[in-house]
Amino acid sequence: MKMPRVSFEESLENGVVLAGKCVGCAACVIVCPFNCLDYEAQRPKIVNECKICGICPNVCPQYDVSWSALEEFVFGRRSKPQEKFGIYKLLAIAQATDKNILQVGQDGGVVSALLSFALENGTIDGGAISGTSKGRKSASKKLADMVPDSSNAEKLPSDLAKTILYYWQRDQLATGVGLQRLLEATTTLEPGNTIYPVPRLATTSEEILDCAGTKYFYSPNLLAFWGGVKQNNKSIAFVGTPCQISAIRRIQMVPLKKYANKLGIAIGLMCTESFTYDGLMKKHIQGIMNINPQDIKKINIKGKVSITLQNGETKEISLSEAKQYTRTSCVLCSDFSAELADISVGGLGLTNWSFTILRTPKGVELFEEAEKANVIRTRPVETEEKALHLLNNLSMKKRKRRQWTLTSH
Ligand SMILES: Cc1cc2nc3c(=O)[nH]c(=O)nc-3n(C[C@H](O)[C@H](O)[C@H](O)COP(=O)(O)OP(=O)(O)OC[C@H]3O[C@@H](n4cnc5c(N)ncnc54)[C@H](O)[C@@H]3O)c2cc1C
Ligand code: SF4
Ligand code: SF4
Ligand code: SF4
Repeated sequence: MKMPRVSFEESLENGVVLAGKCVGCAACVIVCPFNCLDYEAQRPKIVNECKICGICPNVCPQYDVSWSALEEFVFGRRSKPQEKFGIYKLLAIAQATDKNILQVGQDGGVVSALLSFALENGTIDGGAISGTSKGRKSASKKLADMVPDSSNAEKLPSDLAKTILYYWQRDQLATGVGLQRLLEATTTLEPGNTIYPVPRLATTSEEILDCAGTKYFYSPNLLAFWGGVKQNNKSIAFVGTPCQISAIRRIQMVPLKKYANKLGIAIGLMCTESFTYDGLMKKHIQGIMNINPQDIKKINIKGKVSITLQNGETKEISLSEAKQYTRTSCVLCSDFSAELADISVGGLGLTNWSFTILRTPKGVELFEEAEKANVIRTRPVETEEKALHLLNNLSMKKRKRRQWTLTSH
């Protein structure tokens, strides 16, 4: 693709970041060949002089996007007006057969079941997904960074500080007990921060299980994908919100082969909006509702925000109240159902089942193999007409905002 030589400042900084359109996907950050960009406060930040190569504007899902060109690239054709939630081959209502996955999955645990299956049969050797700093294993690094960085560091009880030092010196912070001490410390120092989403490259089924469930905040999973590329993974599954799926398709379309060749499969999560952590979690859940993030077992949004606590109690926030914390860039979003993914998955009001859209031959193949291996079970979409209706409506509402072709081309 011919790339006009335009600087980061002229293109993305002025046209996207300062215009309030940046979703924070980190695509620009990972593709810059000169490491000019850092990722800070969910935005790109220029840290070295831009060499004006013009690559980053070509991967941004918010800059000069021709949706029709992207559809042509992924599917070889444009969607017809009656394809209200984009192009697909098959639809299914599905559920993980493994009880452990079903228990921790957000809806039917289908995303985790497919990832785990693909890892075990060697189709992929990593999954770029989202954990939390509350997760068990590799969260230790994030927590270990938070302790000395905290502005409240002096409040750490000396006994606890000594124990952490002990485990650190023995490289044992990721063990159960080491992590428990780190969590104690971060809960004391940064009480609102321990359920913050953290992009993770999972390479075992255990890690996939550890990261299951929806974080309704933004998780720039492309950073985890980048980690996999750097450490030479061969085939990485990418899981992300629709804006992130558009970014990875743009990366493929350029093409930036270093990244494109590593994409095993793109799994999109249906998405109405995502919320700011400072607003929904810190201000509302912690500040107004007085709920400690440590006590939260699961957050689910089905008509309202339901917060299930570790003790089994459920607290609620109405959707209209929660919407005041919607990230600004989401208000402009034109894709509900991750229309460019190989497989799209959403809850659509279902309990313990996922609504699954199989869009590409690659998506169909993985899904059908998983079903054959009894990793997932399915039932026909016709049994859930309400969910299909909701999918049509939510997609159409967002599609009205879409720019299909470039006006300047
Ligand atoms: C911000 C957000 C908003 C959503 N809004 C809707 C909606 O309005 N309607 C709807 O039907 N569905 C929505 N979903 C999708 C839904 O919540 C489930 O993620 C989906 O149904 C898959 O469920 P599952 O049980 O199959 O997945 P699981 O097996 O639980 O796996 C989910 C996977 O997604 C990853 N993940 C979790 N949070 C994020 C994140 N923030 N960013 C990127 N990856 C993440 C996890 O690491 C995990 O690998 C939303 C998801 C997100 C992240
Ligand atoms: S990718 Fe190119 S245009 Fe973008 S910041 Fe880096 S050097 Fe500048
Ligand atoms: S939307 Fe993504 S690619 Fe575009 S400026 Fe923001 S972080 Fe960079
Ligand atoms: S609403 Fe759109 S922009 Fe916001 S997180 Fe979801 S896909 Fe991204």
